[in-house]
Amino acid sequence: MSVLISLKNVSKKYGGVVALKNVNLDIHKGEIHGLVGENGSGKSTLVKIITGVVEPELGAKIVIEGKEYSRLTPFLAFKLGIHVVHQDLSLFPNLTVAENIAIHKYVESKFVNWQEIRKIAKETLAKLGINININAEVRDLSLADQQIVAICRAIASEAKLVILDEPTSSLTSKEVERLFDFMNLLKSKEITILFISHRLDEVLEITQRVTVLRDGEKIGTFKIEELDKKKLVYLMTGKEIVYDMSKHEIESKEEILRVRNLTKKNQFENISFSLHKGEILGIIGPRGSGRTELALSLFGMNPPDSGSIYINGKAIRIRSNQEAINLGIGYLPENRLVQGLVLDQPVDNNIVITNLKKILGKFYLVDKKKKRNFAENAVRTFGIKTPSIDVPVKTLSGGNQQKVVLAKWVLTAPKILILDGPTIGIDVAAKESIYNLIRELSKKGVSIILISDEPSEVINNCDRILLMKNHRIQKEYLPNEITEEELDRKIKE
Ligand code: ADP
Ligand code: MG
Repeated sequence: MSVLISLKNVSKKYGGVVALKNVNLDIHKGEIHGLVGENGSGKSTLVKIITGVVEPELGAKIVIEGKEYSRLTPFLAFKLGIHVVHQDLSLFPNLTVAENIAIHKYVESKFVNWQEIRKIAKETLAKLGINININAEVRDLSLADQQIVAICRAIASEAKLVILDEPTSSLTSKEVERLFDFMNLLKSKEITILFISHRLDEVLEITQRVTVLRDGEKIGTFKIEELDKKKLVYLMTGKEIVYDMSKHEIESKEEILRVRNLTKKNQFENISFSLHKGEILGIIGPRGSGRTELALSLFGMNPPDSGSIYINGKAIRIRSNQEAINLGIGYLPENRLVQGLVLDQPVDNNIVITNLKKILGKFYLVDKKKKRNFAENAVRTFGIKTPSIDVPVKTLSGGNQQKVVLAKWVLTAPKILILDGPTIGIDVAAKESIYNLIRELSKKGVSIILISDEPSEVINNCDRILLMKNHRIQKEYLPNEITEEELDRKIKE
């Protein structure tokens, strides 16, 4: 394989901060190359140097197709065929697909030649075998198709290297598949891709080689065959992930929730358990074991056929999610992208939606100042990384989206919080901070049901664990009674 771009001795300092230190990196022609590292490890700085936005320290060499440069400018990088597709895509939503793809023609010439624009767009899509209506407005496309249009725009300007910065963070799994198919297609056309992502599973799936950065230094470039997730985490953090076993003793045995013989045909059968004040109760089992259906019943959204639910000793029926909320139950759904968030809406709206009473002013109108304070406070308390509370929630990373969902429920001050797969699809660092939030809540007396697929997650965070399989609760464990491997085997056997 030949080398498309080679970085030698690339360093960058911002004042006293060393963002990159003597990085050497070869990107091969036609490969999908992964770039991973924890936040602040230098990924964006490296991309900025490759695209000429930031100047490296003296002594750096950038060799592109055999030609040597000591630094690039954005114009030069563009001419050399280096393009970035940022998370925000920088598309023009109210223009058509054709106009977006051929946008460089707008910029380059004084007169807009519509025919030529349509021709360029058509040819680009045809060359790649992509079937998207060039007359559609970009805002009407799915997010995956918008990504594809953004990439096609780069291809139309003869991109040789396309850099994708966290392209999957707001896509559903179906859309990720579509994007990956497209990336493989580009690869077959000898277009090189640098893929930056926090989602290690995806990095392992789509790339051929992966470069790991840690604290501005390159740890190495690895062939995908040499890697697995555990190794990658180790390379990124320098730490084996051992979870801190900071479980707490449940002080009170006060029973908050009691479920007796709850049954719904084909979903769950004879479910009985209790939940105590401040307890974290794990429910683990294979997908399809009935856990989500059970959770939805407790949240008033899936009426059971028989059985009873008691809250604080009192038998109740929960007929709607509004009743559940009034009873002090919060629910963080399994698929946050579908049920938990309104993706196009800004962060603040997503946070206040369950807390409207707290932001109403005179005449029951929303008090803008109260709303702003409430949302900003939530962003601070939950450590949500966002440029402001006004950006659409879909622009946030998966981990931060999940914190928004958590915030919106936790701030309703629930007595019982049901978390269905709260860490699915988010990176290790964000996972850890979500575990910390969960433990904090339980210390404050919130009782938590944590539905999970991961033995390590329940063993390290829960006070008790229920194993649910084939629609029934099979067994109860204390976390120190069973190892991760044993629990994993029990789930699978
Ligand atoms: P990543 O993209 O991996 O999260 P970055 O390249 O953004 O990492 O950041 C690497 C380091 O450089 C961090 O410590 C960050 O705070 C610092 N840094 C990045 N950009 C700037 C800047 N414009 N001014 C000062 N420090 C910066
Ligand atoms: Mg970055």
